[in-house]
Amino acid sequence: MSIAIVGAGIGGLAAALALQQRGFTAQIFEQATGLGEIGAGMHLSPNGMKVMNAIGLESACAEIAARPQAISTKHFETGIANFEGPLDAAYEARFGAPFYSFHRADLHAALVDAVLGNDPACITVDRRVVDVVEDADGVTLEFSDGASVGADVVIGADGVHSQVRASVHGEFDARFTGHIAYRGMVATDALPPDFVEPKLNIWVGPGKHVVAYPVRRGELINYVALVEEDDWEDESWTTKADKDTLAQNFIGWNEIVRTLVDLTLQGECYKWALLVRDPLPAWSTARTTLLGDSAHPMVPYLAQGAVMAVEDAWILAACLEREANSSSALETYEQARLERTSQVQAAAWEQGQMNHAVGRNAEGDRFQGGTFADPSWIYSYDAVDLYPLQTR
Ligand code: FAD
Repeated sequence: MSIAIVGAGIGGLAAALALQQRGFTAQIFEQATGLGEIGAGMHLSPNGMKVMNAIGLESACAEIAARPQAISTKHFETGIANFEGPLDAAYEARFGAPFYSFHRADLHAALVDAVLGNDPACITVDRRVVDVVEDADGVTLEFSDGASVGADVVIGADGVHSQVRASVHGEFDARFTGHIAYRGMVATDALPPDFVEPKLNIWVGPGKHVVAYPVRRGELINYVALVEEDDWEDESWTTKADKDTLAQNFIGWNEIVRTLVDLTLQGECYKWALLVRDPLPAWSTARTTLLGDSAHPMVPYLAQGAVMAVEDAWILAACLEREANSSSALETYEQARLERTSQVQAAAWEQGQMNHAVGRNAEGDRFQGGTFADPSWIYSYDAVDLYPLQTR
């Protein structure tokens, strides 16, 4: 069976690896002219790390990750914690895998190395898919340069603006949330010693919150500042923001938040508008399916977008391994994933509303505190246990 994957993001690469593990040959087509990820941080919670470990990346991840010790919610002015919960060994014992934070580029490179280690010809770059045409005999990917390639099965792992989704299912509505995610990184060495606790730190204030945590073995501090704005809607990892404008939002906030923004290199501050979308009613046809953000784009308040992509990847590969008929394998995959990802999509949006509903008391001007829904139902999910590897 020939399998084409559109997109060499975290989801597409994880799918290629899970398929290679089961003896399939998959070919990835990526629009970018080179392989890499942008400079931002991300978490993989235990449900995602169970898959990363199962696709052979346990030691690579341990080598490049940071392990936040706790989750800590703090007052935006005083910095005093009003909630703290364990993350490190306690989480690993409870959920069966660690809670890691990564520099995205490190995680992406580990996946690329593993995929190319199995098959040096697996990834073709500078291949932008502009259409997907399916008939009873196969499915054809058409590229922007006029070339095309045929496959038995196509997996659209091409992100939030998915062309595969648009070609097969049409466009679907997105609504601007009024929230903008600004992000930047600061070298730990540039900060006073022990300036930022090695935790998943969340400062919550009126209409804003800031999340900061170590990545790359603690060598860098990544931050994401979530701010309410009303008139800007671009979803892109590469849109630059002015850090001085960002700093205006945090006048009166505690020294740690202000220092992180101040020390961000000019030109290394980015912004991403958060849009919310309803779950798709279906993802698959007889020969195409979707995974990751192309299937279920979600706001990042539960840090589950990439985690859902790797869960998808594992289960899709398992379904293709188990069912000789690829059409019924894609159907089984969709049935296995639709409800869970729809629930996580909805929960992520609810968490975002909780984050931004806090920060004001009845008088409308004082901080009240953060509220976090219990994530156990998300983290305890074990795709690997539900769909164990059958091959060899
Ligand atoms: P992508 O990473 O978008 O990859 C898609 C790939 O497809 C890209 O390489 C792209 O170039 C390629 N492509 C696109 N179109 C085409 C085409 N037409 N032809 C060929 N190639 C194409 N998730 C977490 O799990 N944890 C977190 O901590 C976290 N933090 C986040 C913070 C922010 C501010 C945001 C905005 C998101 C965050 N997410 C997080 C979500 C996460 O970034 C996404 O869910 C994840 O990147 C989705 O992976 P993907 O492989 O589906 O898509």
